[in-house]
Amino acid sequence: MATYEELRQRHMADAAAMLPGLLERLDWSAELLATHRQAELRRLVRVAKDLSPWHRKRLSNVDADEVDESMLAELPVMTKNDLMANFDEIVTDDRLRLDVVEDHLDSLTGDAYLFDRYHVCASGGSTGRRGVFVYDWDTWSIMYWSILRYEIRALRQQVSQPTAAARGAVVAASHATHYSSAIAQTFASGDIELRCFPVTLPIGEIVSGLNAYQPTLLGGYPSAVPALVNEAREGRLRIAPARISFAGEPLLPEIRTALEQTWKVPVINIYGASEFGCHASCGLGSWVHLSDDLVIVELVDAAGGPVVPGASADKIYVTNLFNHTMPLIRYEVTDQLRLIQGPCPCGSAHRRIADPQGRQDDCFRYGDLTVNAHVFRSVLGRRRNVGEYQVRQTASGADVAVRCIGPVDCTEVAAEIIRDLEVLGMDSAEITVVPVDHLERIAASGKLKRFIPLSAKA
Ligand SMILES: [Zn+2]
Repeated sequence: MATYEELRQRHMADAAAMLPGLLERLDWSAELLATHRQAELRRLVRVAKDLSPWHRKRLSNVDADEVDESMLAELPVMTKNDLMANFDEIVTDDRLRLDVVEDHLDSLTGDAYLFDRYHVCASGGSTGRRGVFVYDWDTWSIMYWSILRYEIRALRQQVSQPTAAARGAVVAASHATHYSSAIAQTFASGDIELRCFPVTLPIGEIVSGLNAYQPTLLGGYPSAVPALVNEAREGRLRIAPARISFAGEPLLPEIRTALEQTWKVPVINIYGASEFGCHASCGLGSWVHLSDDLVIVELVDAAGGPVVPGASADKIYVTNLFNHTMPLIRYEVTDQLRLIQGPCPCGSAHRRIADPQGRQDDCFRYGDLTVNAHVFRSVLGRRRNVGEYQVRQTASGADVAVRCIGPVDCTEVAAEIIRDLEVLGMDSAEITVVPVDHLERIAASGKLKRFIPLSAKA
């Protein structure tokens, strides 16, 4: 039986062979992309009908040889609950039963292969129910390149730059059950060396690790940014990344601005998920290119109907064209996305979305009144000494925990939120703002859940 390291070396070589093709697709025309998607959609539906009993029943009226994107609305939608409740019937390898996959996840102390072929990752917390996702040999490589390919394209376009291997530092998840951590381990020291600095480490350790490593590419979770920026402003963090790339949580405007002002280099936003890999920005503005060759993303309203281009969608349906191990067809994700019209200056014909700002779940409901998380975010995000924050809904308002990096007038912050809520029609809201030393992160992913509605546990 091959060892982990033997498998990993072979995997890196195979992944490297896939890169040129995946890079080329970034410069395909919209027509070529559409032709490719149609062929891939038919292949996916064929596999799903052949090998997944759950899909076979649901897609019995769908002809795999005829289906195209214009007919997607006729196909049923699936949710994370559907996936987890019917897992064994959805996966296309009988060995991948949910109990087997969960046992594998439980056994992980670092990255590992299942049946010498598969990678398993779990996600949840920030969306409520936990999900489990399986990728085979090649699709795990595609997940990896979906994070990095715009980065590599940009590096190759900079002819004046030396071609030395880039060193990436990722301040993100600490546990291999989360794909961002596992994938960095699988492909460590490939075309771009990636080293993970768990976001749960004390900031002093992260800073000394980064100072020693001197990354050319800095990445991680946006919620780690305020602390890093503060360390850089105080002169303790001394790095000079050529590019910056953050993922895993919404890249809020104030965080993007803090990064741009501190390191004065392009900031790449990566919008990714364990379900479908990553959509990355080209670095030329505050947008993200959808991976129009790898997934079909439908932007829809609350009722599931298409939104007009340029309008904000309430949620999306994602069809993952590349992962045949676990076919996800019109899989619902409650991210609110908005398409940007027109061609991108970088030349890519892959559609663009504005930096995603969060999920529909980030709304608090008080009786008939719905309050978007943005109300809190805009008050808290404007204060430079608010490092991180977490807003927990209460019956009559919210409790806000703030990790301060300088003086913050908590009474004044509370008063401003109360005033803004009043404007929205909520009288005499009760808001507390309390400084804390530490905010609790979600165990498996290390992410910070900023907004906790009354109905959710966190
Ligand atoms: Zn672009």
